Amino acid sequence: MAPYLDLVFDIPANQHFTYRNLAAPSPAKTPREAVPGKRAMAPFGKRDLLGYIVAEREEAPAGVDQASIREIRRVVDTECTFGAEDITLAEWIAAYYLCGLGEALAAMIPSGRRAGSSPTLHGAEEEIAPSPLELSDEQREALETITASAGSPAGIPTGSPAGIPTGSPAGGPGGAPMFYLYGITGSGKTEVFLRTAEEVLKQGKSVIYLVPEIALTHQTSEAIKARFGTLAATFHSGMSPGARLSEWMRARRGDLRIIIGPRSAVFAPLNNLGLIIIDEEHDGSYKSGNTPRYHARQVAMRRRAVSGALLLMGSATPSAEAWNLMENGRIRRLYLSRRLAGGKPPEITAVSLEGTEGCLTPRLKDEILTTARMGRQTILFLNRRGFAYFYHCPSCGFELTCKHCSVSLTWHKDRGRAICHYCGYSEVPPKACPACGSLEAGFRGFGTEMIEEELGRTFPQLRVRRVDADSVARGKSLEENLEMFRAGMVDILLGTQMVAKGLNVPGVRLVGVILADTGLHLPDFRAAERTFSLLVQVAGRAGRYFPDGKVIIQTLRMGDPVIEKSTALDVDGFFRAEIAQRRALNFPPFSRLIRLSFRSRDSTRVDKAAARFADLSRPLLPPGADILGPAECPIGIIAGNHRRHLILRGPDMGSLHGAARIALLRYNKGRDSRVYAEVDIDPVSLL
Ligand code: ADP
Ligand code: ZN
Ligand code: ZN
Repeated sequence: MAPYLDLVFDIPANQHFTYRNLAAPSPAKTPREAVPGKRAMAPFGKRDLLGYIVAEREEAPAGVDQASIREIRRVVDTECTFGAEDITLAEWIAAYYLCGLGEALAAMIPSGRRAGSSPTLHGAEEEIAPSPLELSDEQREALETITASAGSPAGIPTGSPAGIPTGSPAGGPGGAPMFYLYGITGSGKTEVFLRTAEEVLKQGKSVIYLVPEIALTHQTSEAIKARFGTLAATFHSGMSPGARLSEWMRARRGDLRIIIGPRSAVFAPLNNLGLIIIDEEHDGSYKSGNTPRYHARQVAMRRRAVSGALLLMGSATPSAEAWNLMENGRIRRLYLSRRLAGGKPPEITAVSLEGTEGCLTPRLKDEILTTARMGRQTILFLNRRGFAYFYHCPSCGFELTCKHCSVSLTWHKDRGRAICHYCGYSEVPPKACPACGSLEAGFRGFGTEMIEEELGRTFPQLRVRRVDADSVARGKSLEENLEMFRAGMVDILLGTQMVAKGLNVPGVRLVGVILADTGLHLPDFRAAERTFSLLVQVAGRAGRYFPDGKVIIQTLRMGDPVIEKSTALDVDGFFRAEIAQRRALNFPPFSRLIRLSFRSRDSTRVDKAAARFADLSRPLLPPGADILGPAECPIGIIAGNHRRHLILRGPDMGSLHGAARIALLRYNKGRDSRVYAEVDIDPVSLL
């Protein structure tokens, strides 16, 4: 037993802390020896913190007063929860995302202190159930192309497509090829994913299968369990930390060979990793919203480089980044062009909402009725919850905004309150304009709740269900509602994003988008990409099994290129225009971004901090790089915190990253403790 241990903690410091090992092993029944790979409680300042033992040492670090070295309190784990490979990956995350090593480990390892109960099955040699489907020609060709490359790591020269910073612990680029299953919704991508996984498992290797948070329904995990039995486990957000930890441990021991889960499953400690699948690659949930703000695709590329595992992504609407890599040949595109379950791409029509009273155009109402008469079902989509959107006074221009955030309050009729969607603040809205007393003032725009009411009035005979964050929070779970919809007990399913993704219901004939333009106004260069992708995905819910699918897209922007391209399901055309625009404006994928955001209760301090960071980083910028801002964030105040940001933009991540790292070090030396700063490498949201 080494006399000293190096620990890291979940704190923003990239630093090891040395502790004395326990004087004598505790007399507990299970001796908890302190070794790297285990977690331990240790005194840190005035508190005790959970730490990760990353190294042991025979001597105290040079120049440290021996007497000042404290002893750890106790070892938490009986068995190692992480190994040398996990530490190496965590080091890469800390270097790339500019966070502490302990923060990286904390993001990777489930937070449970004690593994929950799970079946102790050993060997993982369960039979794989054969698929009942016969592959189409396109599917077979895709599968053969992928598996043919599996043995030859030098398949495609890749360089460093992900722009991993050179000179960081990232190491060199790996050789295993990357594939992209690009196919319309319903073209059978899942089956190709499963068959590829099967092949890789047969070679004795293991598989990570990433799915968007929202798509990880009971249905998906059941399908995978049916196929792979006890070889497979799912990670999902509903699991307790203990249950997650026990699956993590099973993977470490080699008792699991395929893990299905959202973003964080990319860290699964599987031995002999052979394949990483990223389903719905474009999905926003692959990017973490907290430090470290990692992107699962980026981590997957790193794991691929280290392990030689194949990377297989798929979507009907790739991200602009992936699209560009396919155009350059860095990612090999495999195209699936046909729907396989009897469906056809739906007929899509854009309809102007101008001049319509209420939220439903006559055209959409007609189609809803026709669909119901056929005994079929309708999905209505609006990316905005609540009853109405904002409170506006036409005589003086007053708007009702949150007391703590610079955003409009949303009227939630069923609760009788106007609510802030950012911080939760709510109030009873005024009867008259608080500024000028006008009685004309009131809520404008509309949300899901208002549409629910209009549907109830217009079609009292139809059964309507609303699914959004509000309806799900109160009572009926998403699963329950979807189950009823699937069973045909609901005529119209109305909802936000939740209905847009992955829903695979045969009875659906009609998809209606209430207002397609909601996301187009956002001050973000990805606004068009997101709107396009969402519309194509929503449209993809229609006509999956019958060739008569119909989609009505209501809009106030007839003729807008995004609306036109999505109506035509013209992914190539959309990206041709979008990529040209990104190139002209020098936005990703033609540049790389690092966003620094600052927040404080004090607006003067936050301005100063942002300006200071800009001054520190300016002389460090590599040729061709620039700084956007500092500026107020599009949402200038959230929960009483003033928000500023600046964006470092450069031609490649390597040089830009170096500048950001050094600027951050210098910034931290003299930083204002009342300003909170956060760094986001490859930001996805700029709000
Ligand atoms: P995607 O993931 O591309 O949107 P799915 O994988 O959900 O599409 O497949 C859509 C439907 O097609 C599913 O019901 C699936 O069972 C069916 N399907 C997939 N492959 C085949 C095949 N080879 N033959 C017949 N049906 C298939
Ligand atoms: Zn007024
Ligand atoms: Zn608020």
